[in-house]
Amino acid sequence: MASARLSSADGAMILDGRALAARVTGSVGAETVRLKQETQVIPGLAVVLVGADPASQVYVGAKARKAEELGFHSVQHTLSATTSEAELLDLVNRLNLDPAIHGILVQFPLPDGLDPARVIMAISPEKDVDGLHPVNAGRLATGIGTPIVPCTPAGCMLLIRGARGGDLGGLSAVVIGRSTLVGRPAAQLLLNQNCTVTVAHSRTRDLPSVVRNADIVVAAIGRPEMVRGDWIKPGATVIDVGMNRIPAPERGEAKTRLVGDVAYAEAAAIAGAITPVPGGVGPMTIAMLMANTLSAASRSIGREPMQY
Ligand code: NAP
Repeated sequence: MASARLSSADGAMILDGRALAARVTGSVGAETVRLKQETQVIPGLAVVLVGADPASQVYVGAKARKAEELGFHSVQHTLSATTSEAELLDLVNRLNLDPAIHGILVQFPLPDGLDPARVIMAISPEKDVDGLHPVNAGRLATGIGTPIVPCTPAGCMLLIRGARGGDLGGLSAVVIGRSTLVGRPAAQLLLNQNCTVTVAHSRTRDLPSVVRNADIVVAAIGRPEMVRGDWIKPGATVIDVGMNRIPAPERGEAKTRLVGDVAYAEAAAIAGAITPVPGGVGPMTIAMLMANTLSAASRSIGREPMQY
């Protein structure tokens, strides 16, 4: 699929994640219709929520709704916070064996006492639409086999392609953050696209100087507006993964607002392209989950998945 065309402001090009996500889900919806017509297969997504964490409830609801909207077979399992690990693993196993389900997503964080690693390991790698299973991480790292790529970094790559085109060869990229969900796979994807990649983290020395060298910056830190405008190389592409709620007294008592890991206004004055928060990486994550589920359904019948 072609890159996003993006709106342009006075300074940086604003990478419109909502528009790009709509294009991705539009393609997913159309291919879902074709798949159904040609093979009778309906992509199936099972989302599992344990406990009643309010943010997780919102995320899970949004994912299930989007899946339904696209004509998927969408199932949500809501388990109580006191669910035992054995019960959760039993459900995952049943979903692994269910031919109507092609993607399984267990929403994290899990309540205390449930080991996320054991849950991830229990999911069939072919249904691991979050791309967290070591088999998928290994496929991504080695190039052996076709990985399911974690949704957020996969979305970041489409946004970067929207800004930079298809050839990232030789560009210098800095990923701040090394989580298995975002930082590490983002670094791997950029490396696979022939970028020269630096992965920064909490022990990195003189982070501003490291970031100043980067043509592409992916910030996945979880610290509000930590990356300042004067860290950014003029013309760089800045992808802000961070989603941080901060107090917003100007909006009224006890009100909050969402900000990224990048000081947006400062960085937008210097960058060549930048993602806003909200409206940048967030919508892409859900779109790529739908794309991963459709791809898993296609692969389950030996059909070549669509490229985005
Ligand atoms: P995480 O697991 O907490 O990882 C944060 C990373 O940032 C760690 O590698 C940590 O380094 C590094 N870090 C922390 N403080 C730092 C500092 N002062 N300087 C440099 N690096 C530092 O978080 P995550 O799951 O990757 O998520 C990161 C952010 O992205 C969060 O705001 C999260 O809400 C957001 N997010 C958004 C989406 C979306 O769809 N938009 C999806 C997922 C996550 P160490 O490894 O050394 O501790």
